[in-house]
Amino acid sequence: MSDHDEHSDADRRKAATRLVHHDYEAPKNFGGLNVGIHHASTVTFANVAAMRARDWKSDSGYTYGLHGTPTTFTLARRIASLEGGRYCVLVPSGLAAIALVDLALLKSGDRLLLPDNVYNPSRELATTLLSDFGIETHTYDPMDLESLSAAIDSRTRLIWIEAPGSVTMEVPDVPAIAVLAKRYGVLTAIDNTWAAGLLFRPFDHGIDIVMHALTKYPSGGSDVLMGSVTTRDPMLHQRLKAAHMRLGFGIGGDDCYLMLRGLATLELRLKRSGDTGLALAQWLAARPEVAAVLHPAYPDCPGHEFWKRDFAGAAGLFSIVLSGDISEEESDAMIDALRLFRIGYSWGGAHSLAVPYRVAVAGGTPRTVGGWPHRGVLVRFYAGMEDAGDLIADLGQAFDRLR
Ligand SMILES: *Cc1c(COP(=O)(O)O)cnc(C)c1O
Repeated sequence: MSDHDEHSDADRRKAATRLVHHDYEAPKNFGGLNVGIHHASTVTFANVAAMRARDWKSDSGYTYGLHGTPTTFTLARRIASLEGGRYCVLVPSGLAAIALVDLALLKSGDRLLLPDNVYNPSRELATTLLSDFGIETHTYDPMDLESLSAAIDSRTRLIWIEAPGSVTMEVPDVPAIAVLAKRYGVLTAIDNTWAAGLLFRPFDHGIDIVMHALTKYPSGGSDVLMGSVTTRDPMLHQRLKAAHMRLGFGIGGDDCYLMLRGLATLELRLKRSGDTGLALAQWLAARPEVAAVLHPAYPDCPGHEFWKRDFAGAAGLFSIVLSGDISEEESDAMIDALRLFRIGYSWGGAHSLAVPYRVAVAGGTPRTVGGWPHRGVLVRFYAGMEDAGDLIADLGQAFDRLR
């Protein structure tokens, strides 16, 4: 949210330090380290003149609980700092963050470009509600910049990017997409959830808007839903902020508190999850039942070279494709046999997870444009905080059932 001097000492510190040391001041004579939880719908003014003087659209003061409290403003500032941006608005989920960007920036007659590996609810929003509002969506192949370039026309207003893509994990050439979009005057928005704000710096590569499902790694507890939309440009922030106010997206103080508490350990948890993910991927890659490991750190993952060039490391979310002769029933039985890995979608917490994606069952394809080279069942894994050896032993006993 609010401005802060880009060149202050605090901003030169590493993200891990900034997540622990921040500008919150506890009430006098109280030495607690964490931000207070403020609950408010009503926010009062000293007198009518003060009420009239308040600019509702400015982040510099308080008007109404829906538009910010000391707790929500503190979290927004810290997310902006995490992402390397200057302004941030918070919304009740990651999907709400995607919806906010779309609704703030698109109108009837506009064209939206989505990558083929987009988070699927984003595609659902585009093909239902946005379509009803007269907004046209075109799907592009994130690994084919020529097709993206050809898809940009005079009505194109927004290009969404995911790096890596949901489920299938391709890493696009983000700086090249940003250059292309700028040439045509089209805004770019990226879903930075996988990289958790720590492994990838989209603003440094020319991206305009960074969206993050804070539900995942920042929360880390599998118990809070929240999303953020971060920007560097004040005019763009004002458009997003105005839409945010008009749509009435509010977030609760308790959820903010849990998120703030999670942030202090974000880097440690991400490192643990990423390292364990690499250990699991290595074990899986050596198994004859596994046809492909879709992990950005693996050379056969499309865009591996861009990941190596642009990312600071690996998160713990990746997928595999089982060999084509393993049926969906056999794959389901293997997943059911896992004891430590739980079956569930929302990752980023302490528990390791496995989710099968039907879309990639032999004959099907997760692609609507371009080709899909695999035949087998796709399984997405999330590496949690358990011991890596225990997780590998769990995979071992479950994979034994595939024989
Ligand atoms: C989970 C997720 C979202 C949506 O977040 P919610 O808070 O569950 O709505 C968006 N994008 C990606 C990549 C995600 O993993």
